[in-house]
Amino acid sequence: MGFSNRIIRHFDDVLDWTPVRKSLLVLVILIVILVHYWAFQLYQMYFPSKYINYDFLMGTQWGLPLIIFLGVLLIYFGKRLEDKDWAQQLFAYLSTFYYSITLVILGYVIGLSNMTTGLVMAGAPLFGFVLFQRKIVYAAFSTATVMILALSTLSAYGYIPYAPLFKPEFFYAFKARPFYLLCMIYFALPHFVTIFGFCDLFFIRWRQRERNIHHISITDSLTNLYNRRAITHCLENALAQNAELVYPVSVVLLDVDFFKKINDAHGHLIGDKALQVVAATLQSTLRKADQVGRYGGEEFLIVLSQTELEQAVIIAERCRVAISNAYVSDEQDQRLQVTASFGVSCSEQCGYQLDKIVRQADKYLYEAKHQGRNQVVSILNTIRT
Ligand code: GH3
Ligand code: MG
Ligand code: MG
Repeated sequence: MGFSNRIIRHFDDVLDWTPVRKSLLVLVILIVILVHYWAFQLYQMYFPSKYINYDFLMGTQWGLPLIIFLGVLLIYFGKRLEDKDWAQQLFAYLSTFYYSITLVILGYVIGLSNMTTGLVMAGAPLFGFVLFQRKIVYAAFSTATVMILALSTLSAYGYIPYAPLFKPEFFYAFKARPFYLLCMIYFALPHFVTIFGFCDLFFIRWRQRERNIHHISITDSLTNLYNRRAITHCLENALAQNAELVYPVSVVLLDVDFFKKINDAHGHLIGDKALQVVAATLQSTLRKADQVGRYGGEEFLIVLSQTELEQAVIIAERCRVAISNAYVSDEQDQRLQVTASFGVSCSEQCGYQLDKIVRQADKYLYEAKHQGRNQVVSILNTIRT
């Protein structure tokens, strides 16, 4: 398994994590970012650039380690509170506030009007909304926004310095530009990687979920065929699409014969197995473009687009023979065989109205049962082999 696949697998169920666990993830990411910043600070303490405000750097040298220590402490408590119900929301609030306030303070130190602030302001709520309740993200985000506005206003009017970590010429001296560029990349990069990476992960997972939910919503869990809603939808579509060009649509409704007896004699489990065998037989007998679904208990509906009645009857007959040849092993490993009765209708005779075409197929199915079962009935009369 590739490295990126391993990461994706590890965070596969991140959306289902508890709020505390999600908060811990955010905190760990933030601590990594803070350590990355701390490395910058340490480097500048020993090899200062001439654009660094060295007095400020030294005066606040314990600030960042203290913030990191606080974060580690939070992680420690978070780990201990992981399973406590009462702590879930509280911890999510604490972590998101720690995240946003820390980043505003650091943003102020390096200057709030740059791409790091922009990146965090746009990216953090995005992955905040995916992970946490809306009210938590709103609370943290609005606090950060107010702080940013206040600090920016104060520095705009000269009450506090702008970007106290740097000497003013850092922002305008021509010679400072390469260092400026390097600093901006250094500060923004970890945010870019984490925000981009995690948003990608979340959306991979999100799309998977969507696909799963969609699959579940259209599938019958026992037979893996379309469920009633889905096959009805298929028929609706087929009728609507073919009505315009007056292409024929045929419907086959089939019902397993004396199914109750199988249940009564061998139990529900064998009955279920028999339904699975019928479903698999139908699927392997039908053409790729044909659609089949479980319409009710032991009743199946087949939609045959652009298929005339004569052709549909032949297909139904083929299914009938295939089902009568299939078998399921019972509890004594004896072969158990089932048959089914079929009713076939077509838009050529009854138009493109869903109710009418299904009702007609049902009527012929009833006739097939009445005439002795294990047969296909349509307006063309009974065809038996
Ligand atoms: P007929 O030939 O007239 O169709 O007789 P039948 O016994 O098949 O018809 P009936 O409607 O009397 O019985 C259908 C049975 O199908 C009753 C019900 O218990 C069974 N059934 C419906 N859904 C399921 C299922 O999901 N699993 C199992 N094992 N049995 C089911
Ligand atoms: Mg039946
Ligand atoms: Mg039935």
